[in-house]
Amino acid sequence: MPRLYDSRKRILVTGGAGFIGSHLIDRLLGQGHEVLCADNLFTGTRRNIDHLHAEPRFEFMRHDVTFPLYVEVDEIYNLACPASPVHYQHDPVQTTKTSVHGAINVLGLAKRLKAKVLQASTSEVYGDPAIHPQVESYWGNVNPIGPRSCYDEGKRCAETLFFDYHRQHGLEIKVMRIFNTYGPRMHPADGRVVSNFIVQALRGEDITIYGDGSQTRSFCFVDDLVEGMLRLMATGPDVTGPVNIGNPGEFTMLELAEHVIRLTGSASKIVHRPLPQDDPRQRQPDVSLAKSLLDWEPTINLESGLKRTINYFRDIVTV
Ligand code: NAD
Ligand code: UDP
Ligand code: UDP
Repeated sequence: MPRLYDSRKRILVTGGAGFIGSHLIDRLLGQGHEVLCADNLFTGTRRNIDHLHAEPRFEFMRHDVTFPLYVEVDEIYNLACPASPVHYQHDPVQTTKTSVHGAINVLGLAKRLKAKVLQASTSEVYGDPAIHPQVESYWGNVNPIGPRSCYDEGKRCAETLFFDYHRQHGLEIKVMRIFNTYGPRMHPADGRVVSNFIVQALRGEDITIYGDGSQTRSFCFVDDLVEGMLRLMATGPDVTGPVNIGNPGEFTMLELAEHVIRLTGSASKIVHRPLPQDDPRQRQPDVSLAKSLLDWEPTINLESGLKRTINYFRDIVTV
């Protein structure tokens, strides 16, 4: 039987001080691995990794992935990229650079080290989808010149780079298409819908629905998402993805607002604000590939996931 020392891996998580990355790191450390977190703290916070301060198998490095990185690791999870539309549109050129130059640098690193590398891609590669629910074989409906393009096209180009490094250099890649994910450690000012609604409800402020609220999203609780991520990374070299990971439960933004008001017991009122340009009308993952390939499916429904997220925000949001 191999000793723990032999099975322990050194794992790089870029974007590890962010919402999803910090949960992933908790799981990896729990499995006994060493983790190096590289993050420029653009949208992530030290608060998300503060509890790891005394953990000798954890190391934090302030680093921007648009610059080369020379470290020695066995596996790489590439999560560095702002994910909220408010944040990724704040400096769109930097967003594209983060996805594209960031991908080139982690792929160059993986190539030198012959390390497995997983890309946190997104359902945004499907754009405003004409196929519903979205299957991995769908090529998408993306505006290349709109306000969301820096993110959508940046992530699409990153997927291209992953597959070209795989074909050209024989790299072992895993491309995961993440659908809307929520949970504790989302930043209260993150601007995404779940955190916005919960913070507004807890503060008794108006709940801001963009447009008429009939647009849909499918929300995955972060623990389910991270489980899917770990399972994808554990697959053999023939599995490259792309693989959708998300919760197929589909809700309108109006339904989401009503759930949040009910579960928080808030007196907040719903108000409507203009719908942002190119806001996708609908989104729902087809997760049959994840089921067959990874034996994975989500286990936490919206109601219980929201309760856990609301409890987290109750502790940190000042009314
Ligand atoms: P997040 O904003 O909380 O985390 C992103 C992290 O990346 C932050 O810690 C940020 O500081 C860091 N970062 C940004 N630019 C960087 C750079 N140039 N160099 C180094 N670090 C940088 O967002 P999240 O929700 O945790 O998303 C993590 C990943 O998952 C992202 O790649 C995102 O695109 C992807 N994703 C998330 C969702 C979702 O619903 N949460 C959906 C689809 C895809
Ligand atoms: N790179 C890195 N760390 C490494 C190896 C490479 O950050 O350990 C970066 C480096 O900036 C390089 C990029 O990854 O430009 C792509 O590397 P690759 O070997 O594919 O191409 P090249 O070095 O020929 O540009
Ligand atoms: N949205 C909303 N109110 C908010 C924030 C977002 O109605 O305060 C809507 C937004 O227009 C979109 C959906 O909620 O239709 C999901 O937005 P989010 O920014 O969370 O992620 P997206 O899936 O658009 O990237």
